[in-house]
Amino acid sequence: MPISNISHDKSALPFITLGDHLAMDLLNTEARNGESMVDYWTSDADVLKWLQQHEVWPVAEPSVFAVGELLSQAKALRSVALRLITAFKQEKLQDISELNVFLHAYTSAPHLVSDNNGKWVITRISGANTALAMLGPVAQSVAMLLVEGDATLVKQCEHPDCILWFYDRTKAHKRRWCSMATCGNRFKAAQFRKRNSK
Ligand SMILES: [Zn+2]
Repeated sequence: MPISNISHDKSALPFITLGDHLAMDLLNTEARNGESMVDYWTSDADVLKWLQQHEVWPVAEPSVFAVGELLSQAKALRSVALRLITAFKQEKLQDISELNVFLHAYTSAPHLVSDNNGKWVITRISGANTALAMLGPVAQSVAMLLVEGDATLVKQCEHPDCILWFYDRTKAHKRRWCSMATCGNRFKAAQFRKRNSK
């Protein structure tokens, strides 16, 4: 699928971006809605849109790959990330070999671009155009979290019905909810109802 087929209209992108870390938002492509699980990735196009929304544009040339390949590789990376990040949080991280497979596929070169202010900056761009290589920057962000992240700041929303992840960058490190507007208020309303029904 040529990457240029994907719309550049960001307003149409529905993905969750409250994780404050690319690796957290990777895990947040799966969420819970009541009793059922929601997978925001159901096609290659979904994954491409997600990469676009997170400003991961790793390839210079349009990538062409078998239908479903990007989706299956992205889901594989997500389950590796979930396993490793859970172990990291529990300080039990051991075997990282599966992540290395994704990291090794990411061969990149320096890439000069102008930023939003018209200033020139050097970024990296993927040297390969396989589905696996396209996910390289995402795999790298998982690796960076394991290397530089603070395991105590890797958190899951405290609402019992929510599974969303975030990296707590608040000053006091007391963030409890994926979003105060949704889960925080839902939880407080439920506590209030409980107190008043006694
Ligand atoms: Zn939540």
